[in-house]
Amino acid sequence: MDNIEKYPELLPVFQDLQRFIKPAEYELWIRPLDFVYENNILTIVVPAQTWQDTISKRYEGILHDLFLQRLGNTVTIQYKIQPQEEHKPILTDKDVISATQNTDFAVERAPVTETTPSNLFISRLNASFTFENFIESPSNRFARQSAEAVVHQLGRPENNPLVIFSSPGLGKTHLLHAIGNQIMKENAGAKVLYMSGEEFVNDYIESLTTQSAENFRRKCRNVDCFLMDDIQFVSGKEGCTLEFFNTFNTLYSSGKQIVLSSDRSPQQLGWDERLSSRLLAGLTTEIKRPNLETRIAILRYKRDLNHFNISDDVLSFIAEGVQTNVRELQGCLFRLVHYCNVWNVTPTIPVAKEILSDMLENNSNPNVNINTIKKVVGKYYSVHMEDFNSKRKIQAIAWPRQIAMYLGTELTNLSLMELGREFNRDHSTVVHARDLVKEKVTTDPFFASQITQIIEDIKDVEKK
Ligand code: ADP
Ligand code: MG
Repeated sequence: MDNIEKYPELLPVFQDLQRFIKPAEYELWIRPLDFVYENNILTIVVPAQTWQDTISKRYEGILHDLFLQRLGNTVTIQYKIQPQEEHKPILTDKDVISATQNTDFAVERAPVTETTPSNLFISRLNASFTFENFIESPSNRFARQSAEAVVHQLGRPENNPLVIFSSPGLGKTHLLHAIGNQIMKENAGAKVLYMSGEEFVNDYIESLTTQSAENFRRKCRNVDCFLMDDIQFVSGKEGCTLEFFNTFNTLYSSGKQIVLSSDRSPQQLGWDERLSSRLLAGLTTEIKRPNLETRIAILRYKRDLNHFNISDDVLSFIAEGVQTNVRELQGCLFRLVHYCNVWNVTPTIPVAKEILSDMLENNSNPNVNINTIKKVVGKYYSVHMEDFNSKRKIQAIAWPRQIAMYLGTELTNLSLMELGREFNRDHSTVVHARDLVKEKVTTDPFFASQITQIIEDIKDVEKK
């Protein structure tokens, strides 16, 4: 991990990993590694096969989750085995095997108290979530402005607590971190603590079993601003809800700022009267779903930030297909770019459609007339209308026919059987044609752009 400084954006990921696994595990398996991170590909340099096997079995899942949560990226993990003499001499395979045999390495969270020296305050903030990189829109404007107001009016009763709620993936976590980061920027030495509801529950339970409840309390209560994400996790666990209530009261009565997020409104949390009325005493704001312009703006921002080579029309296509969740919106962009990089394909709309089919909302087909498809494809490839239904098998006719069948599956609501009938064939021929053309769309950028053009032409003819 000596080269982690080269990739500051990865720090939050590895800091989290360190908290999720036992210290001994981290020291043994993770710390000795070097890695390279480029284009969302994490190449882990391992000294021996044992490392690769272990890391891929135990930590790949967590790493994937953390990349997605912390950086909003899907990551591809690959390995490079570097012989021991080139690498820093660490432990040999034999050491590792004997260590593994003697230790229970089940992945569980490391007790925070063990890894945190008492004089060190860890805010748990993710520096990559800021106000600057949060796109403002009508759907989040009030939440964002309230969040910014809090930074400059810490502890004011009218903003305390600030509660931000929304359905998943709309920027709550981002705003909480942005508040924390901005406070730290403007007030050197401020104590800001970010904690998710899940962490609160886990840490609290752990503090009971390790008899460090006092430490836990001190950690949560001795702060200037307490940011707690996803407070719905505390619901239904009596001891935790009570602990949260007490934490809340201690902070509130000493004028400390509290910012909370939830996936539902305070009223819907189902908490007892006293607690919900406390939550509602400050400022409550909802982030709504972003409109189309905002979704496009977010995609353009991420594209420019990452220097992705992808056109506005493809971004608009993605924005139309993902309407309810910014995390998934970004996920689509990253998946498409990653796929196109790996296969050296230009990201076009047909490619996006194929690669993201499971993530895009099923906008019903435009239900184009099959004869329009035949007409436009026929014109494009100089094929007579009647040849689409004929038995002629020469490539100059068979290929455009297959393209027309593929477009039939994409642009009409006809079943495969019905489509087969339209071409005087059975449904299996349509399936074969569809798969063949689909394959070419995703592997041949030139062809993909031809298909985009044909689709545009078909839509134009239909409009007339
Ligand atoms: P939530 O906590 O509401 O589930 P997150 O804060 O984790 O959502 O947001 C999901 C992803 O979307 C994050 O990567 C975040 O940076 C991004 N995101 C959400 N809203 C915006 C926005 N308005 N501008 C820029 N990025 C955003
Ligand atoms: Mg969140």
